[in-house]
Amino acid sequence: MIPIKSEKDLRMLERSGHILSSVMRKVQKIVRPGITTLDIDRLSEELILKEDAVPAFKGYNGFPATACVSVNEEIVHGIPAPRKILDGDIVSIDLGVNYQGYFSDMALTLPVGQVGESKKKLIEVTRKALDIGIKQACAGNYLSDISHSIQSFVEGCGFSVVRQFVGHGIGIALHEEPEVPNFGEARLGPLLKKGMVLAIEPMVNMGSWECLIEGNGWTAVTKDGLASAHFEHTVAVTEKGPLILTG
Ligand code: MG
Repeated sequence: MIPIKSEKDLRMLERSGHILSSVMRKVQKIVRPGITTLDIDRLSEELILKEDAVPAFKGYNGFPATACVSVNEEIVHGIPAPRKILDGDIVSIDLGVNYQGYFSDMALTLPVGQVGESKKKLIEVTRKALDIGIKQACAGNYLSDISHSIQSFVEGCGFSVVRQFVGHGIGIALHEEPEVPNFGEARLGPLLKKGMVLAIEPMVNMGSWECLIEGNGWTAVTKDGLASAHFEHTVAVTEKGPLILTG
């Protein structure tokens, strides 16, 4: 069963998403060559707590940090560490917030310093893939219309979509039904209905879609070592169309 949110739920989720997007805007500003992925984590946690919210990832299945910070060939679930970010890196920041029991989830990828053209294109394609997927999040569309639109666009740009990790329903828990893959045929799966809330999150690889999990048991990296980017919003299906809660 895909949960349908009430008007009250949606108002609370909007608050949760608003906190998250404002934290993300502040965190983005400190990203430059020389800071560490741990600096990003510490500031994220401080800002979330200051909003009387709780970091949603910390402790989730044992994840040790507030932020997932994934650099270059890391796809998702990078664990913050005293690792310096270098000029030319791309850095994906994924954050989740629990505000009074209402969850939101958001990610973006930033270029740091002078970044090569192919990495810039990867970031732009992934950002655009998220926009394209969100546009399909309308009542009466099929769930897989989101998936298919993302895959078609990304592959048309010469990149690939990750198969092993997918978007998800969200709201009263961080992960709810349904799964929201970034690949698949159109017009399959459940019909989207008003009140559904989805975390749509294309993960796009410059090379092959295949990935490996590192020895820490968390961090997913591309098998070919090429870069990967990740954008995510929490989106409500409303009668007026898709509403980005983390905008
Ligand atoms: Mg997510």
